[in-house]
Amino acid sequence: MKKNRQLMVLVLGTLIFSASLSAQKQNDFKKEAVAIDYLNSSFETYDKIQKSIWATPELGFLEEKSSAVHQKHLTENGFKVESGVAGMPTAFIATYGSGSPVIGILAEFDALSGLSQDTVPYPKPLIVGGNGHGCGHHAFGTGSVAGGIAIKKWLESTKTKGTIKVFGTPAEEGGGGKVFFAKEGLFNDVDAVLDWHPGTANAVSIRTSLARISTIYHFSGISAHAAANPDQGRSALDGVEAMNQMVNALREHIPSDARIHYVITNGGGLSPNVVPAEAEVSYFVRAKNTKELFDIVARVDNAADGAALGTGTTVVKNRLGGAISPVLLNKPFSKLIQKHLERVGGVQWDERELAFAKEIAKTTGATQEDLEKVKTIEPFKEETFGQLLPASTDVGDVSWNVPVGSFNATVFVPGSAGHSWQNVASGGTTIGTKGLLVAAKVFSLTAIDLFTTPALLESIKADFKKSRGENYHYQPIVPDKGPELDYRVKKQ
Ligand SMILES: [Zn+2]
Ligand SMILES: [Zn+2]
Repeated sequence: MKKNRQLMVLVLGTLIFSASLSAQKQNDFKKEAVAIDYLNSSFETYDKIQKSIWATPELGFLEEKSSAVHQKHLTENGFKVESGVAGMPTAFIATYGSGSPVIGILAEFDALSGLSQDTVPYPKPLIVGGNGHGCGHHAFGTGSVAGGIAIKKWLESTKTKGTIKVFGTPAEEGGGGKVFFAKEGLFNDVDAVLDWHPGTANAVSIRTSLARISTIYHFSGISAHAAANPDQGRSALDGVEAMNQMVNALREHIPSDARIHYVITNGGGLSPNVVPAEAEVSYFVRAKNTKELFDIVARVDNAADGAALGTGTTVVKNRLGGAISPVLLNKPFSKLIQKHLERVGGVQWDERELAFAKEIAKTTGATQEDLEKVKTIEPFKEETFGQLLPASTDVGDVSWNVPVGSFNATVFVPGSAGHSWQNVASGGTTIGTKGLLVAAKVFSLTAIDLFTTPALLESIKADFKKSRGENYHYQPIVPDKGPELDYRVKKQ
């Protein structure tokens, strides 16, 4: 315990951080020096910003403070900020420059419930049951904003024509914020979008993702005394249980990479002696393409209808608006990002950070060799390109509107699971800051390449057109719904 406390003090202590790159490395960035020098001299600024957002973890569509921090910093740095876009109060677009090309950067900032955790290498919630940045979106948004500002400084000093836009996209965790940017056509004037995600490695993202639909099934029955008048009652909970039973049988007969999961959000009351009149179950269905997705969803809907019929209840289906598309990959874009990831290199932890990481690694089984990998960039594996990552992201909807290039930078200790206390712990330390600065540098080098080499953008656009197909028209998976702004508000 004493040792752990010492580590915490070391990691949390104010750090005077000198420029991380050696003089030799600096010479590699002659063309991009303005952007890279700015990021190297701004460690404390972004360390402070990421930690302030980490310390105020806000759930999807409720990210008022986090969004405001980014908007203020962007405004102070010469961006024109439009807030509350696409019907989402915490969404924003920050713009600098004029004319084409227009390069976008995605920034997320929502947290997760139940993941409150201190910056110590053992489980210790700051608030029991409170929110925490288990997906690292505090670092995500901060790295994207840092990258946007570095690019702006370069555009300004080199008097280069072009526009940089930072998209502040709320509610990635289940709210599908980016879907509504896409639905409003807010990427229509953008030539290419850069994206990253905090991870346990430094690597370009070359796997696609699952499409996803969320539906809430609300069953209604008739309440009655469960012993004296059961014949007069109809149990809504029976409806939910019958539906889940049927879906669990159906599960065997769907494509093996599809996923169905549910939680009972209203269990139908508290007293066994009252026949439950209301009960509710919330479902996610995921599949590798929208055709399979709709096919499975129709069968799950049938299970709900069948359950209602059999139990003498009724069911109302509420399809949520934040349904998301799979990611459309772009190989030329991925290769360009790989090149610049390799130029930037991985993260260099100092002794204190490494000691902290070793303590975290003891809880996950990660080896010394695993920890060493943070200094390196994973190679581009052609054979992995296009494989399915069994997860979903609302970046998918962006990627059908404009070419998107994505990558990971190390913000978490290798071996840590997604959405874990370990991620919250390391993300809120200087380990998180170092990772987000790698991302900001990769954004800068890639964007500068796109601004100065038109042929690159042309090849990315050609690949995008080819993969999307002729006469493609984007439509959200659930086209008739807006954002569920209260999806994270606790209901009585
Ligand atoms: Zn997440
Ligand atoms: Zn995430």
